[in-house]
Amino acid sequence: MDKKPVVLPQFTSCCPGWISYAEYFHADLLPNLSTTKSPQQMFGALAKTYYAQKIGRRPEDVFVVSVMPCTAKKFEAQRPEMNASGAADVDAVLTTRELGRMIVQSGIDFMAMPDEQADQPLGLGSGAADIFANTGGVMEAALRTVWCVVTGRPFPFEKMHVAPIAGLEGVKEVSVTIPIAVPEWKFLEGQTLKLAVAHGLANAERLIQQMKAGKNGYHFIEVMSCPGGCIGGGGQPRFTTDDVRRARMKAIFAEDEGKQLRMSHENPAVAALYREFLGQPVGEKSHHLLHTHYHPRPLYPGATPRPRAESN
Ligand code: SF4
Repeated sequence: MDKKPVVLPQFTSCCPGWISYAEYFHADLLPNLSTTKSPQQMFGALAKTYYAQKIGRRPEDVFVVSVMPCTAKKFEAQRPEMNASGAADVDAVLTTRELGRMIVQSGIDFMAMPDEQADQPLGLGSGAADIFANTGGVMEAALRTVWCVVTGRPFPFEKMHVAPIAGLEGVKEVSVTIPIAVPEWKFLEGQTLKLAVAHGLANAERLIQQMKAGKNGYHFIEVMSCPGGCIGGGGQPRFTTDDVRRARMKAIFAEDEGKQLRMSHENPAVAALYREFLGQPVGEKSHHLLHTHYHPRPLYPGATPRPRAESN
């Protein structure tokens, strides 16, 4: 397996709007983007391999429809590299707005329907997955797991939230010192991580220009294209104001806080997936199915892709 050295700062890669923006305007930053696929594309690749194998089907016999807050996910599903299963990993993408319209047109009374459990084995989610929808959520979900795996101690923040990276400010930053465990379980002073979160591409651009001017020393940066993150996504029900974003954010945090399972690495479904199918994290199979690569894109046919020189 071709393992490349990690380049700092690392940028998150779950937002296809941000990935396209980087491919068009910041090709020099592509090595800094995490190779981790978005949740949509991970799910598609696993549904057509792990799940297909469990139900005795071939990848091409499974039709994957994802429901997303996002119009950029429609483009992402069509990227030619998103066929790790041997077929298109995601066949169709509906936005939440489109699904809502279909439910109304079909006369389905959702509130009158009984609750059901999601299908297994891919139906068990953690609170860490819920908060991906909010700006700052991907960073917090990653921190919850990194802290616990590195230190062996519980995540120390109140209600498990890293307060400086929650909320609707355009750019947020926080420094977190993670104590490093030594074999005899004494703790050294630790490693301080400098983290930043930007939502909305104008805010991301401002952060990138500061970074290129050498004004910060971030290790990890989360970028979400839509204001507020996916709670304000282009495929969400209209119209999204800041009051609507705050209400959605509150609902997402309530969902997370109401769960016993709040960290990805504690999810038994994830553990079973690695045990039964993938082997180890970042092993050969997980690298093939769950990671990807990026391409510089020209702004118009025939143009040479090049890094943006100045802030807009
Ligand atoms: S932030 Fe917007 S563009 Fe990015 S994944 Fe969420 S909905 Fe899609």
